[in-house]
Amino acid sequence: MKEGIVIETTGSWYEIDLIEGPTIQARLKGKFRLDKLKVTNPIAVGDKVVVGNTDDDESIVITEIRERKNKIIRQSPRKKRHYQIIAANIDQALVVASMIRPRTKKGFLSRVLVALQYYNIPPVVVFNKDDLYKKPELKKYEQLKSEIEEIGYSTLKTSAITKDGLSALQTIIQNKVSVVTGPSGVGKSSLLNQLQPDLNLKTKQVSNYNEKGQHTTTFARMHQIADHSYVIDTPGIKEYGLAEIDAYELSFYFPEMKSLLADCKFNNCQHINEPKCAVLKAVENGEITEWRYQSYLQIREELLIENKHYL
Ligand code: GDP
Ligand code: ZN
Repeated sequence: MKEGIVIETTGSWYEIDLIEGPTIQARLKGKFRLDKLKVTNPIAVGDKVVVGNTDDDESIVITEIRERKNKIIRQSPRKKRHYQIIAANIDQALVVASMIRPRTKKGFLSRVLVALQYYNIPPVVVFNKDDLYKKPELKKYEQLKSEIEEIGYSTLKTSAITKDGLSALQTIIQNKVSVVTGPSGVGKSSLLNQLQPDLNLKTKQVSNYNEKGQHTTTFARMHQIADHSYVIDTPGIKEYGLAEIDAYELSFYFPEMKSLLADCKFNNCQHINEPKCAVLKAVENGEITEWRYQSYLQIREELLIENKHYL
């Protein structure tokens, strides 16, 4: 009996990095049902599993899947009311952003942060390209950094060119599973390549074939950065997460609002124009920033349409 972490799923084979030992290939035998969720794939990257040898042959099988501390899921495009597990047991998310070339929009940041909050993944907002920040960008960066930290999230400032902040980043990801996200062009691949030059990140789309010979897309790819440090590349974490949220519960995923909800007069307060709303009061006195509140309103509008609450 040995324990390991699933680093790749290819059809019916799973690549497993043993905690004490090499990387091995194993199969899954029998049915596993970890939680009530109906899923199309029983195992995802990041899953912690126990493996053992079969009696009859040399092959290794997965005998147990450990309880997941969190998971990124999305609805299956093919099977109604079924989910796909994209990745599991994620320790943190690196949300890569930049103040310039391209400047990351605050609305984008809010959306990612809401999705991560939904998945229960703590974020670290990484402001990259700091070699390009001049006075105006630095000023805006300082402001945004303090506002984000005020909410309770961590931040870091880096440059994949000058290597500023890279040793701090190296430390942050040590012995952890981190998911990397952020808009295109902010330097995600450049940062990862700096952390682990062997990665040679270029191939954006990873795909393979399952046992029936059907072409399948891998939704998340796990890269090993150091002995037990991994990063997961997953496009779409923001979209998957937001799609799961009920518009009426959106404020739960804004930590600075969540802590005030008990003070709103109405327990179903939507913080729009209700009397004695603690959130509106906090926006007025500056405890909640205007841009976060605007993000709340905008995401809520979109969710109302998507959730079909208007029908
Ligand atoms: P990704 O789409 O987020 O993976 O971004 P890439 O890593 O492909 O980087 C996009 C462009 O930004 C490339 O031309 C990089 O060379 C450049 N770049 C990445 N990081 C930095 C940085 O820290 N400073 C500067 N000046 N350019 C960077
Ligand atoms: Zn309210």
